[in-house]
Amino acid sequence: MHRRDFTKLSAFAAAATTLPTWAQNAAPNATGKLRFAAVGLGGISDIFMRAVSQSEKCAITGLVSGHAEEKAPKYMSQFGIPQTSVYNYSTFDGIAGNPNIDAVYIGLPNSMHAEYTIRAAKAGKHVLCEKPMAISSAECRAMVKACKDHNVKLMIAYRVHYDPTWIKIRDMVRSGAIGELQGFQGGFYGPKQQGEWRLDKKLAGGGSLFDLGIYPLNAIRWIAGEEPTSFTAQTATKIPGPRFASVEESIEFTMKFPSNLLASSGSSYGEYGGAYLNICGTQGSLQVQPAFFYEGLKFTGRTVNGPVEESSPGKAPYQFTLEADHFADCVRNNRTPATPGEEGLADQLAMEAIYKAAGHPVA
Ligand code: NAD
Repeated sequence: MHRRDFTKLSAFAAAATTLPTWAQNAAPNATGKLRFAAVGLGGISDIFMRAVSQSEKCAITGLVSGHAEEKAPKYMSQFGIPQTSVYNYSTFDGIAGNPNIDAVYIGLPNSMHAEYTIRAAKAGKHVLCEKPMAISSAECRAMVKACKDHNVKLMIAYRVHYDPTWIKIRDMVRSGAIGELQGFQGGFYGPKQQGEWRLDKKLAGGGSLFDLGIYPLNAIRWIAGEEPTSFTAQTATKIPGPRFASVEESIEFTMKFPSNLLASSGSSYGEYGGAYLNICGTQGSLQVQPAFFYEGLKFTGRTVNGPVEESSPGKAPYQFTLEADHFADCVRNNRTPATPGEEGLADQLAMEAIYKAAGHPVA
């Protein structure tokens, strides 16, 4: 080989090792956007796809559905997706050979998250998976391992972490705006009707804690910056009949952290109660309500600098756009997402401890 050819080859090899992971795992992408296949075309995927359509950094280029003939045409025409990029659950693994798909967004029932994350990782595609990450800590660990083994990114879709209002709240608390942090009270309550997969433990893994209670739980862990080590909890079902035959109606729990911070929170599928988080310090407190909705977030309170009152100007689905953009940046720059698989695992471990404390072990 001529020296000149070798030099060219060496330069190419060096460039290849510094290519962004998506470029290593997929063909060159003229748009420069992270190209997602949406897996499961239900409520949250619809919101996510609308959010991505407002993004400069991402695009929807593939669809995966068990009812593709019925659900896919609308999105195919909206996003210009060809039939060759539409899959069902049996043909899903074919995404491995699709150079127009870099990543998947998993918007399936909770019990399916692990399987589709692991299959996507094996296909060499990055994974943005909805919360809760899975239905057991064992599944969460397997998902983290599969994504590491196949050199793809794994991010859990905790949209709250990407909302500027929530980031401001966290920064205020961490910078001492309410003195030394002492505790939290929170909750997320919203009725679900019989027939929804959320009320079937086989598909949901748990009750309202996995779906709604995970929001205050995650926000508390995030803002506290430490992991809870002791738990108490009670579940109750007041509404009789088949609706709550598989999962409990309501749950309330407390968590104690190593610094002696105490948090109480709850969730329910039988009660209307909205979503809130009180964050209490030695010199003030913040009340966030509504706290975990797609828009209209508001916080009020007293800080060391006087009263505060602020509302988020964002319009849904802005949180999802910011979340998708963060994931695209992480893939492009080979960075670990702010909410990696380990964040989903930490919530799962806390939820398992809460259910165990309530006398209903889930795993
Ligand atoms: P959904 O019922 O609206 O959609 C679920 C999708 O999965 C549907 O397309 C359905 O056809 C498909 N599916 C495949 N197999 C199924 C089965 N055996 N039973 C039922 N559906 C099946 O649910 P969703 O509200 O879109 O929730 C999906 C995931 O997104 C859940 O993990 C949920 O926790 C999460 N989620 C997140 C947010 C958020 O704000 N981040 C909000 C809502 C839901």
